[in-house]
Amino acid sequence: MFDDRHVLLLNQNYTPLNVLKLKRAVLLILAGKAELMENGRGEVRSVSFSLPLPSVIRMHYFIKRPYFPPKLTKVEVFNRDGYICQYCGRENQKLTLDHVIPRYRKGEHAWDNVVSACDACNRHKAGRTPAEAGMKLIHEPRAPQGNHFVVPYRVLRQHAEWDKYLGNGDRP
Ligand SMILES: [Zn+2]
Repeated sequence: MFDDRHVLLLNQNYTPLNVLKLKRAVLLILAGKAELMENGRGEVRSVSFSLPLPSVIRMHYFIKRPYFPPKLTKVEVFNRDGYICQYCGRENQKLTLDHVIPRYRKGEHAWDNVVSACDACNRHKAGRTPAEAGMKLIHEPRAPQGNHFVVPYRVLRQHAEWDKYLGNGDRP
């Protein structure tokens, strides 16, 4: 009954906390510690219970966690950008890291100067700034805020219903 499905766990205040295996999510619900927010369309059944299949669950109480800013790596940047090229807005599994202000022009390797870019956009931009290349960023890049974890591309794409909780695609 428990396959390798993943469930998004939200804190009591609806901020994403973590990605869990289905089994742990079901145990949290059965223990009365979390409630179902989104049904993954289906049911979890055993001899003793049957539950709507969870896709997003929310803790009944607030979990405090120390905040550590994530390390600046490619996968963290792609994850922050929801695997979407920040120039053409297309989702892409094969992204590259673009320095908005090119490094040789003293652009920093920092959260607010790196974005995900597809191959075509990266080649078109080349060593220019977005303004010089006539390109526009979808979102101003910045360091991820709040609790942070990486959702693997494969898992994210199986769960469109997570987007509204993760804020992908509509970040201000
Ligand atoms: Zn692109």
